[in-house]
Amino acid sequence: MSNETHYSTAQLQAMDAAHYLHPFTDHKELGERGTRIIERAQGVYLWDSEGNQILDGMAGLWCVSIGYGRTELADAAYKQMLELPYYNSFFQCANPPAVKLATAIAEIAPAHMNHVFFTGSGSEANDTVLRMVRRYWDLQGKPTKKTIIGRVNGYHGSTVAGASLGGMSVMHEQGDLPIPGIVHIPQPYWFGEGGDMSPDEFGIWAAQQLEAKIQELGEDQVAAFIAEPIQGAGGVIIPPDTYWPEIKRILAKYDILLVMDEVICGFGRTGEWFGSQYYDLKPDLMPIAKGMTSGYLPMGGVIVGERVAKALIDQGGEFFHGYTYSGHPVAAAVGLENLRILRDEKIVEYVKQEAAPYLQSRIAQLAEHRLVGEVRGVGLLGAIELVSDKTTRARFAEKGAAGSICRDMCVRNGLVMRAVGDTMIMSPPLVITTAEIDEMVSKIWRCLDLTAEQLGV
Ligand SMILES: *Cc1c(COP(=O)(O)O)cnc(C)c1O
Repeated sequence: MSNETHYSTAQLQAMDAAHYLHPFTDHKELGERGTRIIERAQGVYLWDSEGNQILDGMAGLWCVSIGYGRTELADAAYKQMLELPYYNSFFQCANPPAVKLATAIAEIAPAHMNHVFFTGSGSEANDTVLRMVRRYWDLQGKPTKKTIIGRVNGYHGSTVAGASLGGMSVMHEQGDLPIPGIVHIPQPYWFGEGGDMSPDEFGIWAAQQLEAKIQELGEDQVAAFIAEPIQGAGGVIIPPDTYWPEIKRILAKYDILLVMDEVICGFGRTGEWFGSQYYDLKPDLMPIAKGMTSGYLPMGGVIVGERVAKALIDQGGEFFHGYTYSGHPVAAAVGLENLRILRDEKIVEYVKQEAAPYLQSRIAQLAEHRLVGEVRGVGLLGAIELVSDKTTRARFAEKGAAGSICRDMCVRNGLVMRAVGDTMIMSPPLVITTAEIDEMVSKIWRCLDLTAEQLGV
């Protein structure tokens, strides 16, 4: 069997069912439906093995920032594979693309963040975060500062550390997570959990849960607070305007580290290079991945602020941590070329000045639809809440049913949008044109109509 052999869709589906265990998948259900085989892609469009053209409103999994089919990235990988396909960064070695990529990332990162630790993915980046945070406090002579505070429904990956730092209860239930030393506070999800509070009141309340948790545990036990600037996988949850300023006030009062998980928001998604810049935050560590290579090759990392870097470098001795693929030369060459394209083509500026304002004004119109309780977004992230009653924010009786009907309608009508429960979410490639945004929004409207019809409302 070679990759050149041609198989029909049915054959691939049968082989898939026989041999392939997928991430986050109910395999019994998948076996009954059959996998959708995605064969090729160009720009913002995918084609499946039946020839259907689908607008990718999720940029793969939040990662294909510069769109599909950029030959420059393929050329960069090909050239680097011939030159040096692999060498490790252990044993006092480095390779040119990894050194250049660390330098290029330091240039766009906040001024106080000048070092990068490379990993193979976002989950691994958060494993590194856990190790680094605890190592830092040990080096400060404060070894009791071990506990990391995360948030309910946050997402930080799927390894043991990633799933523990995240606050997804369905993940915790499978495998006795979180591991000890990780606790969670409520999320700033006003639409779902704000009750009778105004968004601003709720934002303050949710932020103050951090202070309450620090006081409950004791400042001498708390190592760090980890959060996404905007929760992605949890449902594109955009905190009320009052939330981050109040978190900043609390962080200034207590000596704990701030970890901003930039795996989705990093590399331009909010219209700034990093979500931390969008919210004017000063993190100590920023896990990154996804948009770092536009998903063309797997790569992640942690951008490290001066405070932690200085301790690790000046006092740390050897840090017994790293991965075979840390600083992989081919992934780094692709990451570097991806960054060059983002810069030379002024894609982050395009998001801020054109694409985001246009997308946000267009999706705001969807709020008029009878199924829609709220539309929200920042940059090229958006969410649409499906409800049975617009004024009370009441959901349909069967949780998640409206969302999955809508998601299936979208795919059938040539659009990928993801459903998180009854929240429809989008995160298109950063290079999406205004005409493609129009196409996306008109498809969404049509699919909302079809969903309402199927729900009988
Ligand atoms: C996707 C994601 C991760 C995990 O990244 P992987 O590359 O899938 O391991 C971590 N944090 C956030 C915020 C993510 O969205």
